[in-house]
Amino acid sequence: MDDKKRMEELVEKLNEYSYQYYTLDNPTIADVEYDRLYDELSELEKKSGIILENSPTKRVGDVVLKGFKSVKHLGRLYSLDKCQTKEALSQWLDKLIKFCGSMPKCSLEYKFDGLTINMLYENGLLVRAATRGNGIEGEDVTEQVKTIKCVPLSIEYKGTLEVQGEGIMRLSALAEYNSKQGVTPLKNARNAVAGAIRNLDPKVTASRRLEVICYNVNYIDKVFATGSEMIDFLKQNKFKVSEQYVLYDDKQKLIDALDGIQNERDSLDFLIDGAVIKVDDTSIRERMGYTEKFPKWAVAFKFPAQETTTLLKDVVWQVSRTGKLNPLAILEPVDLAGVTVQRATLSNISEIRRKDIKIGSRVFIRRSNDVIPEITGIAEHTPQSVDVKKPEVCPACGAPVIEDGVFLKCSNVKNCAPAIISMMSHFASRDAMDIEGLSDKTLEMLYNEGKLHHFVDIYKLKAEDFVDVEGFAEKKAGNILNAIEKSKDTTLDRFIYALGIPNIGKKASKQLADEFKTIENVMKATYMELVCLEDFGEIMANGVVDYWQDEKHIEDVEELLRCGIKIAQKQVIEGALTGKKVVLTGSLPTLKRSQAKALIEENGGEVSESVSKTVNLIVAGEDAGSKLEKAKKLGIEIIDEKGLFDLIGK
Ligand code: NAD
Repeated sequence: MDDKKRMEELVEKLNEYSYQYYTLDNPTIADVEYDRLYDELSELEKKSGIILENSPTKRVGDVVLKGFKSVKHLGRLYSLDKCQTKEALSQWLDKLIKFCGSMPKCSLEYKFDGLTINMLYENGLLVRAATRGNGIEGEDVTEQVKTIKCVPLSIEYKGTLEVQGEGIMRLSALAEYNSKQGVTPLKNARNAVAGAIRNLDPKVTASRRLEVICYNVNYIDKVFATGSEMIDFLKQNKFKVSEQYVLYDDKQKLIDALDGIQNERDSLDFLIDGAVIKVDDTSIRERMGYTEKFPKWAVAFKFPAQETTTLLKDVVWQVSRTGKLNPLAILEPVDLAGVTVQRATLSNISEIRRKDIKIGSRVFIRRSNDVIPEITGIAEHTPQSVDVKKPEVCPACGAPVIEDGVFLKCSNVKNCAPAIISMMSHFASRDAMDIEGLSDKTLEMLYNEGKLHHFVDIYKLKAEDFVDVEGFAEKKAGNILNAIEKSKDTTLDRFIYALGIPNIGKKASKQLADEFKTIENVMKATYMELVCLEDFGEIMANGVVDYWQDEKHIEDVEELLRCGIKIAQKQVIEGALTGKKVVLTGSLPTLKRSQAKALIEENGGEVSESVSKTVNLIVAGEDAGSKLEKAKKLGIEIIDEKGLFDLIGK
């Protein structure tokens, strides 16, 4: 295809995508893919020297939506130049250094991934708020923005002022919104903000709990000497600004600092898609000026995308250790942040229906915290799209499927191979009995050879059991048998966790161990005792009680103990706190939590995570919350850090 034809095709495609993204707030491809096509077009334009009349490279942003009043900004709103690699940023900085003679001070900020909002204040009052639109004109969203709690309705400064910020939705707020029954899940936080602000009903905006983080004064009758001074001015006038505003005058240090921001990215409660670097000195900004699209004195460093779109090829159902059938999406392989993704998680059948997910459709996938990516929503259905079928029988053993709330379960868990194997795998895992080398594959082979039927059998394995197992040299079998022997010395919390009691994870196992001290006591624990433990709801308490109703579970424990499992008893240290159970809450003036815990234990005390009737003492610091309240209700003695020092004579 010749360049001109390809350019026409790209322009048409990009304009359609932009329409979907900006005007309808319903993107049909991921940003990375959009950017890839955009870059291709820019390259062709450079190469050919032709720029088509309707090329998206000619404009800053979107079109103005009909239905909103269009308003003219006082100061023009620009987009940002961008680079994707450190080398490109280094070159950008080199040009800057050449222009200035030396490296000027530059700020490093988060690049928030939300929606630009431009707010106009007159006589100290918010009189108008608008979207960026095409940079010259935007949409009037004053009523919508007024519902955002952190946007000041009145400020100290009385002159005419335009403040630019990014409307964002916190990920916690998004998760809470999406977990509500009956709502159509929002695809991502960026989309959620756009949909909330560019919405004709301000009540919708209010319900989404948005924030606006301000980063620029777009129009004012005075001059700031630096960007930092501008940020201070915003702070003084009670605008919300970002905590990440750090100045650098060393090129390498600035580039290195990007790693820190990138590492932080997953733990932030809001989306960022990069970092922004801006020259701080406004006289340099003035001298450098602007292109048609962006300021020459700032650049966005874009991080690898965490979201992309691909084709959903199939949905298969995997049996978990509790017999739950978990849907797993099989995807057309796609590159996401340097990793080829072929599978993604889906929670359950009602989630599939709620998100309208169909096999044969294009879906958005998002990487979150390094786990396998999740499908966040539909990009596009195709003529081949078909509904995901709800399985009638267990795909592994053919037993009928039963419904348990929103989940589907195999009705034959105790004899269903994948459930048994994953139960054994959980039992042997690092946080449970910690049997090194006993991988899922080995367990599966031993199961298929009929050497293992249940986790109790692990302790009955002998060297000859490995003889027929493919790929097992004598040495490897010996290593596993040694690891099994070693695992017999364990602790109560590990042992409880290993049993795989429904809904009892690591934290709950530790609580049970701390509270009841022996496995026999855990078996006898009553519903009332259990439900009094912190964070133990009805489901967990009932789960534990029900678990022991099954005689087989008691026999399993007895059998494990007969096989030689020894659960370590905690050693008693004689000291001022011997026999006392202590809870730490809030932040203490001098001791870190780990130090306070060590001090209590050195003096014979035991630190518990949860407040219950069996706790003897609370050490409370600043900002102590619900634990302190609960302790007061239960009449437990409360002391502060000094009180603790007095008790132990420090
Ligand atoms: P941009 O989002 O890459 O960068 C400019 C914007 O960054 C500013 O307008 C501002 O809102 C924001 N920003 C965040 N933090 C900032 C800070 N600290 N300082 C200054 N600005 C900050 O560019 P753009 O022109 O707004 O949008 C283009 C992008 O939109 C494309 O790169 C593409 O990823 C996406 N897009 C996607 C589709 C799609 O279909 N998926 C379609 C069109 C555009």
